[in-house]
Amino acid sequence: MEREELFKMLTVRNEKKILLVVLDGLGGIPFKDGKTELEAANTPNLDALAKESSCGLSIPVREGITPGSGPAHLAIFGYDPIKYEIGRGILEALGVGMDVTKRDVAVRGNFATIENGIITDRRAGRIPTEVNRQLIKEISDRLKKIDDVEIILKSGREHRFVLILRGDGLSDEVSDGDPEKEGLPQKLPQPLAPQAGKTAEIASRFIKEVEKILKDKHPANTVLLRGFSKYPDIPSMEEIFKVKPAAIATYPMYRGLAKLVGMDILDTGESLQDEVNSLKENWGKYDFFYLHVKKTDSYGEDGNFENKVKVIEEFDAHLPQILALKPDVLVITGDHSTPSKMKSHSWHPVPFLLKSSYCFNDDLKAFTERECRKGSLGVFYAQEGMALMLANALRLKKFGA
Ligand code: ZN
Repeated sequence: MEREELFKMLTVRNEKKILLVVLDGLGGIPFKDGKTELEAANTPNLDALAKESSCGLSIPVREGITPGSGPAHLAIFGYDPIKYEIGRGILEALGVGMDVTKRDVAVRGNFATIENGIITDRRAGRIPTEVNRQLIKEISDRLKKIDDVEIILKSGREHRFVLILRGDGLSDEVSDGDPEKEGLPQKLPQPLAPQAGKTAEIASRFIKEVEKILKDKHPANTVLLRGFSKYPDIPSMEEIFKVKPAAIATYPMYRGLAKLVGMDILDTGESLQDEVNSLKENWGKYDFFYLHVKKTDSYGEDGNFENKVKVIEEFDAHLPQILALKPDVLVITGDHSTPSKMKSHSWHPVPFLLKSSYCFNDDLKAFTERECRKGSLGVFYAQEGMALMLANALRLKKFGA
């Protein structure tokens, strides 16, 4: 039996509420004074909670695999991140807050420089974001459709933008329109399957039309297109797990990821207090909440140990308000590790804490990587975290007689 079929068969609805808090890139490795960020942070509330919770470490994708936030989030939402792939173009579109539909192919774009058919700069000298916005506006005003395919564009930062092709009969089996190295001839997107001919042709015509519009805009006088991707065919959380889920996240990409699995996206301001307020306001309306805190990851990526510690401490200070809602199941974890020492995501397992009326109390001294390793949940794949949440909410029936 497929894993999804098992859950469809065993899950039941009830009144119990599950709250999943994801501190992005939470995990660390020993760095300043031999401590991780969680070990350095002063977190009285998290530590007290760890004492009476079940803890463990979760492996985001597979051992040794460093995940992006896309697959890492799919896993904590209970999906096999290898089975369900989210294409680069889709992820990028979600990241800039574009609405994506099942008829779309989303593509990552770069402004670039072309001279006599040769790509001489793949980033057009990293044009300022303001110039990018101006160029995207000009292109959008003049190029709304190619044949029956709608052209939808949005600026990213510097030379980056996202293109959505919206229409019928589109395919993502198209090669990148990018020579990948400077000093090589321009490459136009090619179909990789018979059904992709239309998409490749539209994409190539898009590039040529854009070049006409940009002909006096050197260094941004052409575009490269990469990562053609269709909306992934992911069954919703409602369908598999029988929950009514809602997401609270401040960054577009995470709202987009939550939407991909069928969550309602709740309004929230930028601060953690805003997010907690949104949780309180909507507490009666859903039975599964995903609350995302982004800055732990951002500071980890910057190598800013001190500020990552501060974000953890800020979360700790807000924890009593969250506990006051009395979720039946509360999980606090990360989607992956982002050790400040590495200034990047990493493969290291992530601290995972689960509190319910039916969990073991592990009597741990603190909520840290080292303490969680001693916890009763052991080390497990992040995608199984959802099963633990459902079980602790008494939402999983017995398997077999
Ligand atoms: Zn992440």
